[in-house]
Amino acid sequence: MLRWTLNIFGLHMKAKAVFIFIAALSLLAANGCGPGDKPSGEAQYDVIIVGGGMAGLSAGAHLASNGLKVLLLEQHHKVGGCTTNFTRGDFTFEVALHELAGGGLFQLMDLCGVKDKVEVYPLPDLYRSIFPGETTVDVTMPANWEGWDNTLKANWPEEAEGIDKLHSLSTEVFKDVMDVKDLFRYSGAKKLFATLSVPIKHPALVKWSKKTLQELLDYCFTDEDIKAVVSQFWIYYGAPIPDEIAILTLVANEVFLTEGAWHVMGTSQNLSNAYAERIRELGGEVKTGTLVTKVIVEDGVATGVQTEFGDTYTGRYVICNTDPYQMAFKLVGEDNLPASYVKNLKGLKPANSLFVTYLGLNIDLKKLGYTDTEIFYNTSKDSVAVYDNMMNNNFKDGMVSITIYSNYGDPIYAPPGKSLVALLEFSDYDSWPKDRDEYQKMRDEKAAEIIDLAAKVIPELADPKNVDVMEIMTPVTLQEFTMNYHGIPYGFYLDLDQWKKIPINTPVKNLYITSSWTQSWHGVGSAQINGWMAARLIMDREGIE
Ligand SMILES: Cc1cc2nc3c(=O)[nH]c(=O)nc-3n(C[C@H](O)[C@H](O)[C@H](O)COP(=O)(O)OP(=O)(O)OC[C@H]3O[C@@H](n4cnc5c(N)ncnc54)[C@H](O)[C@@H]3O)c2cc1C
Repeated sequence: MLRWTLNIFGLHMKAKAVFIFIAALSLLAANGCGPGDKPSGEAQYDVIIVGGGMAGLSAGAHLASNGLKVLLLEQHHKVGGCTTNFTRGDFTFEVALHELAGGGLFQLMDLCGVKDKVEVYPLPDLYRSIFPGETTVDVTMPANWEGWDNTLKANWPEEAEGIDKLHSLSTEVFKDVMDVKDLFRYSGAKKLFATLSVPIKHPALVKWSKKTLQELLDYCFTDEDIKAVVSQFWIYYGAPIPDEIAILTLVANEVFLTEGAWHVMGTSQNLSNAYAERIRELGGEVKTGTLVTKVIVEDGVATGVQTEFGDTYTGRYVICNTDPYQMAFKLVGEDNLPASYVKNLKGLKPANSLFVTYLGLNIDLKKLGYTDTEIFYNTSKDSVAVYDNMMNNNFKDGMVSITIYSNYGDPIYAPPGKSLVALLEFSDYDSWPKDRDEYQKMRDEKAAEIIDLAAKVIPELADPKNVDVMEIMTPVTLQEFTMNYHGIPYGFYLDLDQWKKIPINTPVKNLYITSSWTQSWHGVGSAQINGWMAARLIMDREGIE
């Protein structure tokens, strides 16, 4: 019997031919549009982008710098989505970005002319990881391979072999990912043969794309403390260690530890603004305060958008920088989508949302001896328990990430003698009351709880006299500002079943989606890569190299 598996090389010749024929057909069907398949007809814009988050902005800048006429519509009064800031009194708060993985990202920013518009600076360390207990683990991990390896070997000399294994595997898998990075551009027979050659050319990638982070840790190490420390970033990737995919850690390790961890001078809002400025200087338009309410679909083809003000704009292509639920169920409408697409979407599990307490302090934390930038205080090494506790808003038994932005060396955050800190845990939208009074009561209680947890590392945080300004962001706030479903900035939950998220192509011709919910995972860097991917697919159709 013909088995649907990638390993077709053991099959009888006739079965192979049938397999290849059917697979080719299905790939062609899935792709819909290939290179050179340019939409014809008159339109006001070449490309209309719904949403000015990192992915939408990046798509717009790449398209505009290749001569396409772009219109970007953003519902908020400024661009950025998650990558934005706000000012309260003496303090300017970064909403989202803690650390940015550099590397290829800077090349992409260069490619569309944005790199010179922003100043980025490296952070001294990747993170400090604390696990209190009978023998407290407290390790600061540098943001480069040499420092990373040496720190681990100094703390766990008996794990030296596993430390080297993790390093070489990260390098190998990252190289594999780079080798297949253009696969998303291929269609038809080219895609088929490139896909079939992946297991032969890149066995490490195929092997580790089927393994969890837990399996990776068990493969490299025996000691539970080192496992907990090296996997600390699970909190930024979204799924607890037994569920989370191994390749994300392998790839991110290689990027962070080869290229460093970075931040943007003047907060990530400056990066967002730089993209918008670039689109405008290339003749594109960026309109803020404009909510898109509909993607116009005619005979299965996206031809434009409608806004809340009743305006209609026509475009040869439309890109949604939204979550897929808004795109499918509000903007496009279920009737315009194949049942299989809708069914797949409904079957995918979204990731977590976040709860953040932002503090402007009238004390100088650095002078008091707190020199770190990013600290994780974990109440347990059991990531599943920690995840469940956070998602049930039991913050005191969760894990708090403490970011001391005023230690970043950028004067924007706080005036001299003062400090700025953000405290973050996971949170689930559904656990927040709908009643406004109850919601606000819970919000304040939870802020007190997260401060108490962080005060185990920085006791001064618990003294209200030290706090000049406090702002709280819940999943409800995140949903209001970014319009992401349930305030989820990470897109889909990254386990083995859904790590590919959803494709940037959609079943509606000339309609694309690019955001944290699409192929290149989530994060400020990934969103920019996602945006470039959407632009690249359109450029391929336009015949632009
Ligand atoms: C607190 C926090 C901390 C984070 N820390 C980090 C970090 O340290 N490192 C990292 O790499 N990543 C981090 N992230 C994640 C990262 O910020 C996001 O993954 C990324 O910025 C998401 O970009 P996006 O393009 O998918 O869209 P979003 O930022 O979600 O933007 C979507 C935009 O589309 C607009 N929009 C939606 N619908 C419409 C509509 N109908 N009409 C018009 N406009 C619309 C929204 O207003 C929004 O501006 C963090 C996120 C948060 C919230």
